[in-house]
Amino acid sequence: MSDSADFSELARTAHRRFNPLLREWVLVSPHRARRPWQGKVADPAPVAGPHYDPSCYLCPGNERAASLVGGTPVRNPKYSSTFVFDNDFAALHSDAPQVLIDESGLLVARAESGICRVVCFSPRHDLTVSRMSPAELRAVVNVWAEQFTSLYALEWVRHVQIFENRGALMGASNPHPHCQIWADASLPNVSDREVAAQAQYRAEKHSCLLCDYLALEEERDERMVCQNDSFVALVPYWAVWPFEILLLSKRHVSAIDELSPLERDHLADILRRVTTHYDNLFLTSFPYSMGFHQRPTDGHTHPEFHFHAHYFPPLLRSATVQKFMVGYELLASPQRDITPESAAERLREAGEIHYLDRSLENPQDTSATNVGREPNTGSSFK
Ligand SMILES: [Zn+2]
Ligand SMILES: [Zn+2]
Ligand SMILES: [Zn+2]
Repeated sequence: MSDSADFSELARTAHRRFNPLLREWVLVSPHRARRPWQGKVADPAPVAGPHYDPSCYLCPGNERAASLVGGTPVRNPKYSSTFVFDNDFAALHSDAPQVLIDESGLLVARAESGICRVVCFSPRHDLTVSRMSPAELRAVVNVWAEQFTSLYALEWVRHVQIFENRGALMGASNPHPHCQIWADASLPNVSDREVAAQAQYRAEKHSCLLCDYLALEEERDERMVCQNDSFVALVPYWAVWPFEILLLSKRHVSAIDELSPLERDHLADILRRVTTHYDNLFLTSFPYSMGFHQRPTDGHTHPEFHFHAHYFPPLLRSATVQKFMVGYELLASPQRDITPESAAERLREAGEIHYLDRSLENPQDTSATNVGREPNTGSSFK
């Protein structure tokens, strides 16, 4: 597009936008955003439960899920910060037997080895990222970096996926704050496409796709949600989910192991702020799937790869109305109604004082009232 392109027309006209990371198109239909809603209304997310749940297999000191199905009983230690363990029901195992099938290129299979771990963010059963302190979140960032480094060191591991499913709407089986780390012997589909797109962009333009994209976003300032000295959170131009967020490092690094101590602080800061904007949007503990995309751990340096995270939240217009990927989206192309620009504006306006910390008399008041823990005060980062 030329410098004189009229982007304002995009708020009124059905159009397609190109996603350069996946090299696919998303259909945007802004005129449909006001149609009446007659679809499914989901139940509101329950409010936070107790600090400790005796039936939770992630809480400190509790028996783990493997025990429940007749496996060897395992008990969690009485951990006081983060806690990492190998998933009792791992989707992958590190000792997969050799399988190699190829019938006419149509019936194809390969054995896949992997390691699946669970990272508990906190001993507190009722916390979410938005309700954790900067120090608590910094401990989580440290664990992610340690895990990435130790899995990277395994010769057969070619990809490390860190991801969090938050909320029952995203299929999270347990509200205890945790994420998963899956290390694969192969590059998964999405990373494969993102690596190829970034490598091709670098070969053609001698520059980084996401560094160049970030410069455009900073210049246009339409889709920003929040930022600090090291990270930017924005609704990407090509967002599919209504309130999708792309989290980008400002410095070109390819993975979490290259972040400086200060950048790790800033990552912890932006994680809390993004999830606070989310919670404030519909005054609910906002569900999402999020995860980091990092350079493959395949022995190459991958200078084309720019460290980032995606947030894919399912909510559409309230705590109870969710977006489904059905019909045209399954059969043809992803589609959205509200524009990414208006989604970013609504997320910005949702603010950074968590709604549970606002005083009852004045909902906009910044003097926090917090129950039972130190308040999450507004960030000192700009
Ligand atoms: Zn728990
Ligand atoms: Zn870059
Ligand atoms: Zn990505």
